[in-house]
Amino acid sequence: MNLTGKVALVTGSTSGIGLGIAQALAQAGADVILNGFGDASTALAEVGRHGTRVGHHPADLSSIEQLAELFSYAEREFGGVDILVNNAGIQHVAPVEQFPVERWDAIIALNLSAVFHSTRLALPGMHQRNWGRIINIASVHGQVGSVGKAAYVAAKHGVIGLTKVVGLETATSQITCNAICPGWVMTPLVQKQIDDRIATGVDPQQAQQDLLAEKQPSLAFVTPQHLGELVLFLCSEAGSQVRGAAWNIDGGWLAQ
Ligand code: NAD
Repeated sequence: MNLTGKVALVTGSTSGIGLGIAQALAQAGADVILNGFGDASTALAEVGRHGTRVGHHPADLSSIEQLAELFSYAEREFGGVDILVNNAGIQHVAPVEQFPVERWDAIIALNLSAVFHSTRLALPGMHQRNWGRIINIASVHGQVGSVGKAAYVAAKHGVIGLTKVVGLETATSQITCNAICPGWVMTPLVQKQIDDRIATGVDPQQAQQDLLAEKQPSLAFVTPQHLGELVLFLCSEAGSQVRGAAWNIDGGWLAQ
């Protein structure tokens, strides 16, 4: 796999899954633009050790203006985006009738609308260069529901729908658009859900085992490295006719 000369933008890549994907892309030779909150110095060092160019832009992707600034930065500093990984996402767990309206709006803005905005901003450059990969990190929750996750499940179902449309609209080009649907991956987003169980008095080890046992038949976490390898496959020539797909990588969650 050689992505030398390609520029990848991975949103929400200062931690978790996005960071794992950014590392895989850099290892394959791509220049990488990181995005996300918090101190980016560790992520910059980890991704930069592969010797390709790495930058970071701290745009809050729930803001259309900041999203546009991120793409201006990509154009100005890197010459555009060839591989767009829409990964940034947040979660909030509460029953619908108690779901804070402001959390609903924030989740839809980041987990769904930002995917639309970044896609529409990336496509013209991809068409111009006659090659592109758009990879949306959806979730098993793009295909099934779970209690307490109304906004997240609605947004991820929306991302899979959007992926199908963009996959069709680019079908005769060298641009592909696909979604990846991970099951449980151990990241800060999932740690928070384990912490909520621990707060009810459950032993930490047990809380982790319970979380897996409820949904993921393999009883093992998917890793950011697994997801990085799948992204590389979708960027390869062998992946060039995978279009508009929602690809499960979930320890069997959706087989049930
Ligand atoms: P994480 O919390 O570890 O990382 C989220 C990243 O997004 C961080 O870099 C954070 O700074 C960034 N971010 C948050 N709000 C942002 C905003 N407004 N603008 C820009 N960046 C922002 O989460 P994760 O578990 O790595 O999740 C990454 C993606 O994978 C999400 O879309 C999530 O829905 C999806 N996913 C996660 C799992 C899992 O089990 N962890 C499973 C399926 C899907």
